[in-house]
Amino acid sequence: MKRINTIESQVRSYCRSYPVMFDKAKGPFLFDKDENKYYDFLCGAGSLNYGHNNPILKKEIIDYLNQDGIIHSLDLTTKSKEEFLNSFSKNILATRNLNYKIQFTGPTGTNAVEAALKIARKVTGRTNIISFTNAFHGVTLGSVSATGNSHHRGGAGTSLNDVTFMPYDGYMGKKINTIDYLRRVLEDNSSGIDMPAAVILETVQGEGGINVASSKWLQSLQDLCHEFGILMIVDDIQAGCGRTGTFFSFENSGIEPDLIVLSKSISGFGLPFSLLLLKPEFDKWKPGEHNGTFRGNNMAFVTARATIDNFWTTQELEAEIAIKSNILKTRLEKIAQENISSDVEVRGKGMIYGIDCILEDLASAIQQRCFENGLILETCGSDDQVVKLLPALTINENDLIGGLNILEKSIKQVMSQSDFQKKLEDWVVQK
Ligand SMILES: *Cc1c(COP(=O)(O)O)cnc(C)c1O
Repeated sequence: MKRINTIESQVRSYCRSYPVMFDKAKGPFLFDKDENKYYDFLCGAGSLNYGHNNPILKKEIIDYLNQDGIIHSLDLTTKSKEEFLNSFSKNILATRNLNYKIQFTGPTGTNAVEAALKIARKVTGRTNIISFTNAFHGVTLGSVSATGNSHHRGGAGTSLNDVTFMPYDGYMGKKINTIDYLRRVLEDNSSGIDMPAAVILETVQGEGGINVASSKWLQSLQDLCHEFGILMIVDDIQAGCGRTGTFFSFENSGIEPDLIVLSKSISGFGLPFSLLLLKPEFDKWKPGEHNGTFRGNNMAFVTARATIDNFWTTQELEAEIAIKSNILKTRLEKIAQENISSDVEVRGKGMIYGIDCILEDLASAIQQRCFENGLILETCGSDDQVVKLLPALTINENDLIGGLNILEKSIKQVMSQSDFQKKLEDWVVQK
């Protein structure tokens, strides 16, 4: 371990929190080389919604390899691509009455975000983009310009332009509707804010601290977009693919974005794969204008198609997520209130949840203690003060509760062995 750490760049990040060598993974579990078992509530930051090595998907990919199926094909037409397009268009789009063209971008989420920003600017002829406080959209220059986090912005090494940040839902407290402010600056020719090509947003901010936008807020944002000819881009990279309880995170919120970005769990198997959905009238690309060698990964086509066919042709998974979501929410609220403080907020939707621990040190102590006790999870939020839980959507109730038991035990240990109780009391007094 020491030796490889001198070979790999300083830029490595997640591995610093979990200094063991991982070797195998199955369903909701990771195993290190000494066969210690860990509940994986990190889930590849939401790339493993169906667990590790899901046997149905694994079999499909092994069969595909055994048949000498095509692995790389630029964007040539292949059987696996055709089957994916047919299944996605029939089982995901048509069943939801949605009409989008499907664009395969480079394999990373950030590349699909770049494509969304580019096409929005191209079709509107405007340059400004509205993004929101605490947003995370990736780290290439266009995407990081729309990312709030100063740590990530700092890595750019150049000025980040043409994005205006507006307060996300709840940013000014529960009573203030932040869309009123956005409306005011758009209506005022002298606000100093250039009319934007697009707004880009996550309906649940994943890296930004599990902030959930209300349907009302999303609808008023959409109204504003329609009024001013602004495209609405939903970055569903983390919140999509079932994570919030429905395939798309916005399904029950009464909006229909112009552009939708998917990545992370779209392959279902943890393979790199991203796409951009465009309302047909905005599909104004010239051939190859947003190019890339690895657009459309054939193995990912195979697993993504199998994921849809196995998990998204019935209501079963959605019903299961609803039950597990309830377990998660109820238990997390109980754990937080009984062991941390009644001021601690539990936020989330579906199976993406966070405990806002207020203090960064507390969140990181909990993360560390969880790891020692066999549960892997990450922290997020503006100060990394939120303990974030992303269990596999396919985890069974026993294992979900098993992971939550470790979380509770770890929080109890942290709270009893340090002065966090006092620090939290000081915080409440200051507030
Ligand atoms: C992870 C993520 C991205 C970036 O995806 P990469 O594959 O890391 O480039 C963009 N937006 C959201 C909401 C994400 O969670």
